[in-house]
Amino acid sequence: MENSKHYSRVVVKIGSSTLTHSTGHINIRRVEELVKVLSDVKNSGCELIVVSSGAVAVGVGKLGLKRPCDMPTKQAAASVGQCELMYLYDKLFAQYNHTVSQVLLTRDEVEIPKRNEHIVNTMRRLLELGVIPIVNENDTVSVEEIEFGDNDTLSAIVSSIVGADLLILMSDIDGLYDKDPHKYPDAKRIYEVNAITDEIRALAGSAGSSLGTGGMITKIAAAQIAMQNHTDMVIINGERPQNLYDVMEKKAIGTWFVRKG
Ligand code: GLU
Repeated sequence: MENSKHYSRVVVKIGSSTLTHSTGHINIRRVEELVKVLSDVKNSGCELIVVSSGAVAVGVGKLGLKRPCDMPTKQAAASVGQCELMYLYDKLFAQYNHTVSQVLLTRDEVEIPKRNEHIVNTMRRLLELGVIPIVNENDTVSVEEIEFGDNDTLSAIVSSIVGADLLILMSDIDGLYDKDPHKYPDAKRIYEVNAITDEIRALAGSAGSSLGTGGMITKIAAAQIAMQNHTDMVIINGERPQNLYDVMEKKAIGTWFVRKG
């Protein structure tokens, strides 16, 4: 990825599979490393907004529930898990002297003009105050008509709300491949995409993880929204939080989505 752009306002989306073990319990080492690297990126002068999944996964783990859950159980689990997540983020970021805030959204906040204006203003003020907003869908009140459905889409919308210059999707895959890497060992990672074509959409297939709701299709949809708003996007594996340093240095890691012209 070659360009001389320096990113100054970055949205980082962290998927459930990055935050939790397959048991649904928090992956403590991973989250600690992640918060350390994010704090360092923020210290380097970059404004950060985190879109964190994991409310449902953590809540299900903490309550000892089995999946799949019915809607009220899922919403109750999100209510428990969101609390646990924010407790952890608050505690860990505080170690590096950073203040976090919780922002829970539904489509109404984005699509109803008056509410959209409020959320734009609030986010702007939070960033001016040096806060790291931690955003999630308000799963406890979200029903079909007002839900985003997945945090890939939500993170692209948040990027447009805050006018981010980069969106980083931390997932359980290394990026977009020219064929399904689970089926074909010779599949090759695509390093850079400059336009969302039918061919790219077809490559996305329907691969997803069992913990979150997003798959490659929702990531490509997020890339489309981001590129329309002149926000660069990159998909990287969240397994190694240090990867974020490589992203900030624009190294050839993951798959970059950069609109040309
Ligand atoms: N909002 C959901 C949660 O916090 C996750 C949605 C997603 O993973 O895309 O559990």
